[in-house]
Order: sequence, then structure tokens, then C-alpha cells
Amino acid sequence: VDISFEERYRVRIGPDIREELPSFCSQHYSPEKIIVIIDEKVHRLHHTKIQAICGDYFREILWLKVPRGEGSKSLSQWQLMLDRILEEGIERGTPLLAVGGGVTGDLAGFVAASTLRGIPLIHMPTTLLAMVDSSIGGKTGLNHTTGKNLVGAFYQPDAVFADVAFLRTLEQKEWITGMAEVIKYAAIRKPELFDQLADLTKSIPEPDERWAKVISDSVRIKTDIVEEDVLEAGNRAFLNFGHTFGHALEKVAGYGNLAHGEAVFAGMIAATHFSRQLGHPVDDIRFRPFLPLYKRQIESLPADIGALIKAMRTDKKVKDNTIQLVLLKEWGSPYILPCTDLSKLEESWQYALAQF
Ligand code: NAD
Ligand code: ZN
Repeated sequence: VDISFEERYRVRIGPDIREELPSFCSQHYSPEKIIVIIDEKVHRLHHTKIQAICGDYFREILWLKVPRGEGSKSLSQWQLMLDRILEEGIERGTPLLAVGGGVTGDLAGFVAASTLRGIPLIHMPTTLLAMVDSSIGGKTGLNHTTGKNLVGAFYQPDAVFADVAFLRTLEQKEWITGMAEVIKYAAIRKPELFDQLADLTKSIPEPDERWAKVISDSVRIKTDIVEEDVLEAGNRAFLNFGHTFGHALEKVAGYGNLAHGEAVFAGMIAATHFSRQLGHPVDDIRFRPFLPLYKRQIESLPADIGALIKAMRTDKKVKDNTIQLVLLKEWGSPYILPCTDLSKLEESWQYALAQF
């Protein structure tokens, strides 16, 4: 599958699509050197594959491994990478390949944006979340001691190669995390995706053609919404469906105790219930096939609704002191509502928490 984004770069999706890298690079870069910023675990599992495609065209590979976990999205990790790259000596045109999940992509993206005021970037996402979400849209970022993703830049890659063969080694927990974003796309843009996805929950972790199709549908939805945002300011906020609630859950549960996708899944149930309280016809029977998967992963959700609402109020996306909710008029039709009705908010939390 080939999706072009803002006419500026391509997203290629499919089994073994990584093998197109050498030919792409031969059209755009000199064969001197490539920088590969790679998740340490992905390096352990897949470095021969990466070595093969890079070695096919480039004379030299500078490997930079990223330790696992969110902690690597730090200014100190960024500095380590920059030191290595600048000490090795590179040129403006030296490309940087980012291989890993969203952590590696966000860090590598910011390294590419900030080295020599910008060197070419190619994303090779290896988690489902990175394929359908973080490698698309041009956001790069690091965490700061005062909060997540507070340092960063918009920086578009020259290309994205999403090779679903990498997903074979992904742990169940990571599948679930990425799936929450796909469920989100189904809810806000393409309800037909729900049925395909429910079917696919049986084939985790078998990244076949059906998964490639769901991933490319997701990428298309995200690129469409990001492009619309340029014309109709504000559409990008639809991508926050389930996230205003989800971020609060992650925060109150303590980062690391609840995966992002688990929190977002519960958050989508809450946002859908809020929509129903306003009379919108969004029966959450659609979420039911996925509930057992998430239930199995989630040990416990925080039950202090007061704390959850307080956390929603301190979210980055709060405007004029009012929580901005993404709700559904019907499946596939999101809208933004500044929330003033606290009792409906409480009721939504109660409903969502009771599902787990
Ligand atoms: P991650 O990068 O930490 O990857 C999750 C785990 O999977 C890691 O332990 C990693 O070692 C492992 N892994 C990666 N690929 C693997 C493979 N093929 N086989 C086996 N294991 C593999 O996490 P993530 O969920 O991919 O990304 C989360 C990050 O993405 C967060 O920091 C979030 O802020 C960011 N994000 C960014 C954007 C954006 O627009 N830039 C959007 C959404 C999320
Ligand atoms: Zn998310």
C-alpha cells in the first residue's frame, strides 16, 4: 500500500516493505553513510534485517541504540546521540533511519530536526502504535521533568516504511496499545473497521495481509485528519477521542502502571457514554469484542473519580479552564464540546470504570 502525504512524502505499508529502502535511498542520498537510531530490543531481534537493507546501499552505518522505555525520550539521551553524530562527522544530506516504536521515533525525529538544523529522516516503525500513529503526522518530542512531550518540533520524514513483518515479535501488551488507536480511528471516521478489527483480535500476533489493510486504513485516516487540520483548524483534536479521559487515568494510576492503550480504551468507553447521555445514538456494543482483551491486561483502574476529574482539568489541552471533550454525534462523526456538566462527567467515569 502506498499513501502519499501532503504530496511531500510516502508511507509504504506491507510485509517485507523494508526491502524497498535501498532503492529509495539510492534515489535520494549519497551512499556515504547512514545513521540508524534503533530500539535496543529491536536491534537484538532484527538487526540482521536492518544491516542487510542498509549495507546494500550505504558504505558506512552509524548504529545508535536506544535503551527501552519512555525514559529514553529525554534531553540527556538526545545529547548523547548528538554527541556521537557530530563527533563522527556528518553532512547535511546524511540520512537518519529511525527503527523502533514511538519512543525511538519521537527521539530520533527530534535528533534529525535539530542536527545541522535538519537532516533527512526516514521512519521504520516496528510497533503497531508507531505504524498507525506516532510515525505519521510529523510530531517529534521529548519529555521534560515537568511533563510529557514538552520539548519537540514538527518535522516530516522523507518516507515511512511500515513493515508488518516486524510485528511478529511484538508482545501482546504492545498489540493492545496500538489497537486502541485503531479502535479510535474506527470510532471517529470508519465504523466498518470495528468488525474487521474484532475478527483480527483472534490473529494476534499474526501480522498478515488483513492486518496490513487495517494498518493502511488507519494511516489514511490519520493523514486525512492531519491534512484537514491545515484547512479546517481544529480537526486534529478529533484524534484526541478517548484521550482526555485516558490521560487522566494514566496520570492517576501512575505512568507505567497502566499502558497508554488500556487507558485510552477505557477513556473511549467514557467519552461514548457521555455522548449517549446527550442523546446521541452510540451504543457501545461496538467495544464489546475488545473488552476481554483489555480486561485481562488491566489489573486495576483508579476509582477516585474526583482525582480523575481534577487530572482532566490540568491536561495540556484544557482551554479557558474548560475541559475539551471529543464526543460522537454518531459512530464516525466526532465533535468538540467544552464540558460544563460535571455530573455527566462523573456518570461517564462511573460507567466506564464499572466495565473492568
Ligand atoms: P515503545 O517505543 O516504547 O515500544 C514499546 C515496546 O516494544 C518497547 O519495549 C520496545 O522495545 C518494543 N518493541 C518495539 N518494536 C518491537 C518489535 N517489532 N518486536 C518486539 N518488541 C518491540 O512504545 P510505543 O507504544 O511504540 O510508542 C509510545 C510512544 O509514542 C510514547 O512516547 C508516545 O508519547 C509516543 N507517541 C507519539 C506520537 C506522535 O505523534 N509523535 C503519537 C502517539 C504516541
Ligand atoms: Zn494515543
